[in-house]
Amino acid sequence: MFETLRLTRTLYNAGLEQRREAYRKAGKTLSAYDQQRELTALKEACPEYGGVYSHVLQDVFDRLDRAYKSFFSRVKKGAKRAGFPRFKGRDRWDSFKFKQCWDNKKDDWTACGKPIDEGRRINVPKIGAVKIKLHRPLEGKPRSLQIVLDVDQWYAVYTCEVPRAALPETGSSVGVEVGTTWFAVTSDGGFAKNPRYLKFSLKKLRVQQRTVSRRKKGGNRRRKAIQIVAKTHRKIRRQRLDFHHITARRLVNKHDLIAHEDLNVSNMVRSNLARSISDAGWTSFFLILSSKAAEAGRKVIAVDPMYTNQQCSKCGHTCRENRISQARFVCVECGWAENADVNAAKNILQRARIIWPSGLNGSGVSHVVA
Ligand SMILES: [Zn+2]
Repeated sequence: MFETLRLTRTLYNAGLEQRREAYRKAGKTLSAYDQQRELTALKEACPEYGGVYSHVLQDVFDRLDRAYKSFFSRVKKGAKRAGFPRFKGRDRWDSFKFKQCWDNKKDDWTACGKPIDEGRRINVPKIGAVKIKLHRPLEGKPRSLQIVLDVDQWYAVYTCEVPRAALPETGSSVGVEVGTTWFAVTSDGGFAKNPRYLKFSLKKLRVQQRTVSRRKKGGNRRRKAIQIVAKTHRKIRRQRLDFHHITARRLVNKHDLIAHEDLNVSNMVRSNLARSISDAGWTSFFLILSSKAAEAGRKVIAVDPMYTNQQCSKCGHTCRENRISQARFVCVECGWAENADVNAAKNILQRARIIWPSGLNGSGVSHVVA
């Protein structure tokens, strides 16, 4: 598996080089298909690639193609730093993928990822029967299998097609304001604490980081110390993920319509530095929220967040003086007083209702700028 990682990474970098050259020399844009067609020739020239399953090799070019496509879409959106696809170092390449686990014609497993030996092993083409701890049964029809190395642990990640399990309607809708003081505040007055997992592990991380810098560069002991730091980061990442899942699950169970601010709309209007710093956390949270909502047949709407924290949710009057402190909102026009985040969450919900009046059918996420 390490060898497959090495070979696929090299292939990705070579593919990137090839695309850059083709463009530089002839102004030609290569597609994933163009590159996949050369795989047979590649295997003849470099026999070691014969040791990697062909779908895995094809997927490398699909991945490169996706990197290009998302780069171009960022450019189109006018992102300041669009981030051209980069060459992958050893630390930036941790997975490979079998794109077809199920044979639709035979309605049975292909050779990729099939559990054997009563679920104690799985079949990984060109690698063999790999021991596995199948921690929960596979649901639905398996589509693809990704093998992922996470610091010092290997994971088999199956993507399965599962029939949608819509939840019964509750007749309730909610607006969600995210922030740094509170992770989320809802229009019905719910407050979700910001767990600050990183903060609690900072001390530990500092000690571990010091050990790394004390140790000789390129040495074995340093490599081990780096791995310990990576494990701490992994733990923080998992704690955060777990929290996101629980928080999203609560919202999806309770409400038919969930509204939040659209993070794709420029954050400049809010000019809040702390916010943009932890943006990554919310992006992941909103992704989890929308996939749970889609499964449950709920609606998630992202609205333009402009002035949501300066607008009065009662009379609509909008001015900076309404926000008398971080936590307090008092309308200078009508006197409406409320917690500032709850007020903002109510505005978010009201904007979503304009876009999607209740009672309409549909699910999933809409990105509408109102
Ligand atoms: Zn007012």
